[in-house]
Amino acid sequence: MKVPFARVFCDGNELKYVQEVLASGWLTTAGKTFEFEKRFAAAVNSKHACAVNSCTAALHLALEAIGIGPGDQVLVPTMTFTATAEVVRYLGADPVFVDVDYATRLLTPEIVIRALDTHPHLKAVMVVHFGGQAACLTTANQSGILDVCRARGVRVIEDAAHAFPAKWDGRMIGSFGDITCFSFYANKTITTGEGGMLTTNDDQLAKRVKVMRLHGIDRDIWNRFTAEKASWEYDVIAPGFKYNMPDINAAIGLAQLERAEFFRSERQRAVEYYFKHLQDVPGLELPHSHVPAVDHAWHLFPLVLNERAALDRNRFIEALGAQGVGTSVHYKPLHRMTYYRERYQLRPEEFPNAERIWRGCVTLPLYAGMTPAELDYVIRAVRELLTPG
Ligand SMILES: *Cc1c(COP(=O)(O)O)cnc(C)c1O
Repeated sequence: MKVPFARVFCDGNELKYVQEVLASGWLTTAGKTFEFEKRFAAAVNSKHACAVNSCTAALHLALEAIGIGPGDQVLVPTMTFTATAEVVRYLGADPVFVDVDYATRLLTPEIVIRALDTHPHLKAVMVVHFGGQAACLTTANQSGILDVCRARGVRVIEDAAHAFPAKWDGRMIGSFGDITCFSFYANKTITTGEGGMLTTNDDQLAKRVKVMRLHGIDRDIWNRFTAEKASWEYDVIAPGFKYNMPDINAAIGLAQLERAEFFRSERQRAVEYYFKHLQDVPGLELPHSHVPAVDHAWHLFPLVLNERAALDRNRFIEALGAQGVGTSVHYKPLHRMTYYRERYQLRPEEFPNAERIWRGCVTLPLYAGMTPAELDYVIRAVRELLTPG
């Protein structure tokens, strides 16, 4: 048997909507993209949604829109994908890396407060909702990450690449912060092949993002003049980017969006099965949740093999691979990557929790439509490898 790490489910209206796009004769950004934006904004309860061709593009546009520039500092957790940090460098700014909470792999208000105290010039914080679990954004007594940052005039960009659909305190991720960025990469919770979405409630930020995602062409100026001028007339107000989402991709996204909650509940079902059958394995730490199971996007099922485990992480991954079980590692922390380590002279001692996670982290297969046979196969393989004797 082979159990892949991830599997895409495209058995809804994907083909139908793509065929509509092909039949329309217009393949790039138009009606399907606008419809996808409208429906996504409604799904996360945000005022604006801007479709782009990756989450990385969304993160870049987000930082550009809030005015991040050369020499600025942006807080980034070390336990994330390089995209979260590289976009800071795109703008000539510098990431300030911090450790994460051991149990959840998330930033906490305490970590953010400490960082803001020691780096008073921080302009923004990148909050990564690791694995599909929301970080503590707000609390009743205003001590969440967003509360703390707002009180100090620091912007918050949420990297929600893992976190659709997810909730914090009963509210959808995508409706909270200054800007939230989602990924529709092939193995994310819903996909457009490649793609991303940026959401915000701020009219000014949305306007800037919409201009910058397509060459800095100002649509409003253009629209204002279309009545009197020829349709080829437009103005360019900045050296923008080419980040728009084509309608072919949006068509797939629309179909995936219709099934997003079903996919999520499917992953939750698989996770509950894993929990039930991997509870008591020596040396195996299961993921810790601080949100209700139904509020978790369950993009990943991340484990830690600790010192008591019968074999180390690398041999564990190899042995599972030999049995046809796909796994992944989330993440080799950014402070260990050559570019960031050398440029910012980062030392592992500064990131004790991320180091402890890194030594033992391995992520098991998780996707909608995982069969009981697939789950049993993975569970049996894991148990056998980690149970001595
Ligand atoms: C996948 C991912 C991204 C980048 O998403 P793309 O759509 O591939 O650009 C950014 N951040 C995190 C945490 C991710 O997992």
